[in-house]
Amino acid sequence: MSDLSSFKKVFKGDVVTPDSPEYEQAIARWAANSQRRAAVVAFVKDADDVSAALKYAREHKLPIAVKGGGHNPAGASSVEGGLVIDLSRHITGVRIDEEKKLGYVGGGALWKNVDETAIKYGLAGVGGTVNHTGVGGLTLGGGFGYLTGDHGLVVDNLVQATVVTADGSILAANKTENPDLFWALRGGGSNFGVVTEFVFQLHPQRSTVFGGMIVFPGFVVDQLMPILVEKFSKGLDPKETFMQVLTLDPAGRPCIVFTVFYNGSEEEGRAHYKPFYDLKPVMDTCREIPYEKLNTIQNDKVEHGRNYYMKPAYLIRPDLNVTKKLLERLPQLVATHKDAIEGITFVIEYWSLKKACSVPAGETAFIRDPRLSGVANVVFRENTPEHLKLTRQIASELIEITQTLPENTQGSGTGYGNYSALYIEAPQANNAQALFGANYSRLTELKKKYDPDMVFSKWFTIAPAEK
Ligand SMILES: Cc1cc2nc3c(=O)[nH]c(=O)nc-3n(C[C@H](O)[C@H](O)[C@H](O)COP(=O)(O)OP(=O)(O)OC[C@H]3O[C@@H](n4cnc5c(N)ncnc54)[C@H](O)[C@@H]3O)c2cc1C
Repeated sequence: MSDLSSFKKVFKGDVVTPDSPEYEQAIARWAANSQRRAAVVAFVKDADDVSAALKYAREHKLPIAVKGGGHNPAGASSVEGGLVIDLSRHITGVRIDEEKKLGYVGGGALWKNVDETAIKYGLAGVGGTVNHTGVGGLTLGGGFGYLTGDHGLVVDNLVQATVVTADGSILAANKTENPDLFWALRGGGSNFGVVTEFVFQLHPQRSTVFGGMIVFPGFVVDQLMPILVEKFSKGLDPKETFMQVLTLDPAGRPCIVFTVFYNGSEEEGRAHYKPFYDLKPVMDTCREIPYEKLNTIQNDKVEHGRNYYMKPAYLIRPDLNVTKKLLERLPQLVATHKDAIEGITFVIEYWSLKKACSVPAGETAFIRDPRLSGVANVVFRENTPEHLKLTRQIASELIEITQTLPENTQGSGTGYGNYSALYIEAPQANNAQALFGANYSRLTELKKKYDPDMVFSKWFTIAPAEK
């Protein structure tokens, strides 16, 4: 305790311990199952506070976790018995340089903060499609968003980061200062330090866009999929993004929900998605909405505090047979396991990846994959080993269904790293190597340079190079 008192003397932020009345709230995460009982939660105020917290944790041999928006469902921002460096209370500011079209964003900000501030200047950045997600984790793991078609990945729009590295140094990382660290941060996740500020390139953005949800009953799949296949084979328009969500309606019947976006007016959006509308959806909430509402469309489908599990996979193209098999299996799984499972969705994200994949391989640590990103999401009732085990089996079964199309089995098999929990589930396998592929070797060199003692080891942990 005396040690903690000396820490408090140099630390400007708030220190929360298990005896504090606000402790339970301090360790809460978006997914209830990713909560861990930390010994200390340090709500940092600035980069110096991060240095002090790192020093304290290292001196006392406390394992460290870093929390931004708290959305990782596999516990990557939580730590049992260790110290959490939490940026989400005090480092959430967003400042806009209108002339240079830059956004200076606190490392603990949510995308809501960015969307709402930037659009006041007629600007927007590529950011998460659920606005209560954190800027920190989403950016460092690559980052896709509705504007990816036009502007690439979130990391492609990162201009600079202020980083506190494992030894407590505060560094600027950009194309000219510490360019190796800047390269590693753009996809290397939380392996290299704590980012207290991100600087993003923003882009002129119209103030209203077309967005909402369109719902079809599962039985129209035979008519719907050819439309999707044709649309996909012609190439997606950079102005459009939609997510195909295979799920169940309130009566437990399969349905297909599209969360759609078109960067234009309602008239343009409806014309663009006419082939969908011609099929007469049973529900349509789409309309012209203020830009800052776009990333709220899905918010209430993914509320805080439930037990979530996600398993991703890349998919080569939309496929009728795979879709039919998934739609057939979802109600069976929910009915069979209704005591353990609250809900299941399988989501396939359609954004034009031309811009993102035009960035040369090796330009950033993030490995670009031109395929569609799919993810199985399972909500389970109790955070028990039994329910989690069953949940994992169900998610794996859904991924296996996608692999009945042989081309879907190609590649590393990790899917998008920010949706994956592989690093927790199979710690023996070299998951980081699988995720980072050709970039792994360079990342191990940089891990040796910036974090040789593996202080940051909660997300696809990179091992430092040996020689
Ligand atoms: C509902 C939902 C919607 C999503 N939508 C999208 C989407 O549209 N596009 C997309 O690309 N991904 C999306 N994701 C995935 C998302 O990118 C990851 O869950 C990401 O980890 C969330 O970041 P966070 O800061 O909220 O999480 P946290 O749990 O706080 O952190 C996740 C990881 O990042 C690290 N981290 C966070 N902040 C910092 C920081 N400032 N410095 C250093 N390390 C940090 C943590 O230590 C941890 O390892 C979504 C996830 C969910 C649950």
